[in-house]
Parts: sequence; C-alpha cells; structure tokens
Amino acid sequence: MRAYNFSAGPAMLPTAVMEQAQAEFLEYPNEYASVMEISHRGDAFLSILSAAESDVRELLQLPNNYHVLFLPGGASAQFFAVPMNLCGKQTKVAYANTGLWSQKAMQEAKRYADVVEVTQLQETDYVSIPASHTWTQVNDAAYLHYTDNETVSGIEFNFIPQASHVTLVSDMSSNIFSRVFDVTQFGLIYAGAQKNSGPAGFALVIVRDDLIGQALKITPSLFDYALQVKAHSSLNTPPTYNIYLAALCFRWLKQQGGVAAIEKINARKAQKLYAVIDRYPELYRNRIDVSCRSRMNVTFALPNDTLHARFLQQSAALGLINLEGHRTYGGMRASLYNAMPEAGVDLLVSFMKDFASAV
Ligand SMILES: *Cc1c(COP(=O)(O)O)cnc(C)c1O
Repeated sequence: MRAYNFSAGPAMLPTAVMEQAQAEFLEYPNEYASVMEISHRGDAFLSILSAAESDVRELLQLPNNYHVLFLPGGASAQFFAVPMNLCGKQTKVAYANTGLWSQKAMQEAKRYADVVEVTQLQETDYVSIPASHTWTQVNDAAYLHYTDNETVSGIEFNFIPQASHVTLVSDMSSNIFSRVFDVTQFGLIYAGAQKNSGPAGFALVIVRDDLIGQALKITPSLFDYALQVKAHSSLNTPPTYNIYLAALCFRWLKQQGGVAAIEKINARKAQKLYAVIDRYPELYRNRIDVSCRSRMNVTFALPNDTLHARFLQQSAALGLINLEGHRTYGGMRASLYNAMPEAGVDLLVSFMKDFASAV
C-alpha cells in the first residue's frame, strides 16, 4: 500500500514511473541486464541520457545557448561549483538571504569570493521576501544568487529579481518544473534531483554558454562546467540509474501535459491546503506572508506538542505520511511536488477538517 508521502526530499515519485522501473528492473529492453548494470558509454544508456536532456529542454523551453548538465554532489555541490565557475576575474558575488538554503549557499561561496548579502533579514524575519528594488545594488558582482523556493520554511518567490547588470543565478531545487518561467532571465539554474526531478543522486544544472570556460584554477574537473559540457556530464561514471529514473519522470511530466499543465494542478493543490489552514487559524498557524507562501512546501504549526503528536499519528494512520516539519523549523510541512496526486491533498484537507472539528 503506497501512502501519500509528503516528504520534502527525497520525495514521492510518480507511481507510474515506479511501476515502469519495476517492470524493467531486471532486464532493460534488449539489454538482458538492468540499467544499473550496463556501461555508461554504451548506446542504451547514451540514449537514456540524451532523452533526459532533450526532455528537460522541451519542458523548460530552453534556447540552444543553454547547456543541460547532470552533476554529482546534489545541490550542495553547486554551492561551491557556482562561484568556482562564474567568478572569473571578479571577486564579488551577491546573495539574497531568504532562509536556510540561501544561507548555506552563501556560506560556501565565502570560501571563494567576497559575498555581499543584498537582503539582510534576521532569522525571525524569514516570513516575507522584500521587493528586489529594496535590495542592495551590486553592479560589479559576478552574479546575483537567490533561492527561488526555501524548502524548510516554505517561502517562494512570486517574482524574478531585477538584475539587469549582473548574471542571475537561482537554486530551484524544490520548485523547478512546477511552474512556467522565463529561463532567458537566468545565467544559471541548478536543482538537486530529489525534490521535483527524480531520486537523489545528482544536480541538474542549466547554464548559458557564454558563462562557461572561465573556471577558477582550483576547480576540480568534475565540477568544471566547460569540461562536463564537453563530456556530456560523463567525465566520470554518472549515477546512471538515477538519471534513468529522472528520465522516466521527465517523460511522465510530458505525458501530464508538461509544466504549464502541472502548474495549474500545483496551484489548486496549494490553494486547497492553505484554505483549510486559514479556515482554522487558531489550530493551524502558517507564518509566511500570503504573497510568498510556497506552493511546494506548505508549513503550519499546531498550538502544542500534544496536538502535534496526535496530528502526526492520526494522519499516518490514514496513509498520509512524513508530515513532520524540518528539524530546525518544527511544526508540520506538507510537500506538494509534481508527483503528489491531487487526491492526496484532498485526503489531507478532509483529515484536517475532521481533526479541527474533533478538538
Ligand atoms: C534540498 C535542497 C538543497 C540541498 O540539496 P542536496 O541535493 O541535498 O545537496 C539545496 N537547496 C534547496 C532549495 C533544497 O531544497
């Protein structure tokens, strides 16, 4: 019995994808072996890799001057790969600090560059995103980095920051493929796979062609974008099985009608959940400013530990699992990535209504 799994990541994958992987687990068609047992240089895997890339291109409507990379180390490896590749001769980089993940990205960048924090929020202020015209303007920075969706607290940008003079870089780990956006505004986008792309094991990196080829000398080859572009993400053995599963997820998303179609469903799922939260504000407290509530990670806290524990226990009994919030943030967190069926959200909402009338 597969539950509705609200985990923030690794997160639920589409059941249809899991069934296909299961059917092909022992023998991938015409290979008489599993995908995880065949060469990453052989035709079968190469066609999986190129399908994954072309589906990403199609889903995000990428122009030809953008490269698609599947790189090791998850999103956290991009925290250092980004400054190492993009600084060039510049020393200054700009970071918007809107929560835990932007902080981590910023901390890592400090090893390689002078970081200017363009939004100075205190931790207790991670409830809203200041308009970008109020940010410190840094025109001589190599890039401006921001985290499009803060997975821990559940804050999401509802705008693309204005950065006319600097290259815009975004960590979209937890909301890439969830809504349509204009890729051409960005120099680089990266995303750890395990939120909304596939299983854990790599980061997807989308990088504009003119930005590669100027990596710092100390950059390890595996994280040099230019070298990885040339090697089709296979400078060493890539995580072949993970890329295969992600390729199935991309194909599944196309079958759902692509990003524009899933965006509508995602909006509806989030709207239903926030509606029940707002209906019982004494019981379910969401701290995030309405304008930047995340559609992907919906956070709320119950008034005390007894209700918190009872909520988790009763929801799990209904097959609604992994609703407990991040260890640093507490409360509840329902992650509503593409693979979470609307029926899962409907069941959660009806449980939350029942729970509210019982207390
Ligand atoms: C999960 C997450 C990360 C870290 O991803 P890893 O693949 O574990 O390194 C970074 N940024 C955001 C926004 C995340 O949600």
